[in-house]
Amino acid sequence: MLRFKRRYGKRKVELTKFLKKFSRTKKRGIFKMAVEADQYAWSQVQCLDCGNCCKRMTPTFTKQDIKRISAHFGETPKEFYDKWLKLDDNKDVVNKTQPCQFIGPDNKCSIYEIRPVDCAQFPHFVRKDVKYQAEQKVYATNMEYCPATLAFVEKLEATIGADL
Ligand code: SF4
Ligand code: SF4
Repeated sequence: MLRFKRRYGKRKVELTKFLKKFSRTKKRGIFKMAVEADQYAWSQVQCLDCGNCCKRMTPTFTKQDIKRISAHFGETPKEFYDKWLKLDDNKDVVNKTQPCQFIGPDNKCSIYEIRPVDCAQFPHFVRKDVKYQAEQKVYATNMEYCPATLAFVEKLEATIGADL
């Protein structure tokens, strides 16, 4: 983890500049590059060695998430909301505190099968509905916390950085 923080510190400015250029490129084949960068990222990083997204960030909960998870605990959605959740400045429903109440000491999610959709999709690398260039701001924010995102952006940069 220390290596990740050092790498992020060293490469932050350069990679942020790359992401800005990347957001404007009209080059073809971005999805294929994302697939390769995704494979590279997951060959470098094990989530169970990390857990940063659960410890230092919060998912956004949808109504369906709240309904499903509260039912699992035999609570009403309101009881669940009042216990764990709040509205943030963007009016998104998020955890009141970090780390997330559902992470265990082994970095495993105690509600893995029914976790919020946002958690299941994080960090959003290979999805046909993702506009990779439009996601650049999300990557720029997340690479500070998520070693997989840092590796993903590094790989993209190594693939097309020189051509932008
Ligand atoms: S619900 Fe599970 S996967 Fe989502 S942040 Fe909490 S511990 Fe992590
Ligand atoms: S921050 Fe990234 S690498 Fe770490 S557990 Fe979450 S998704 Fe995995």
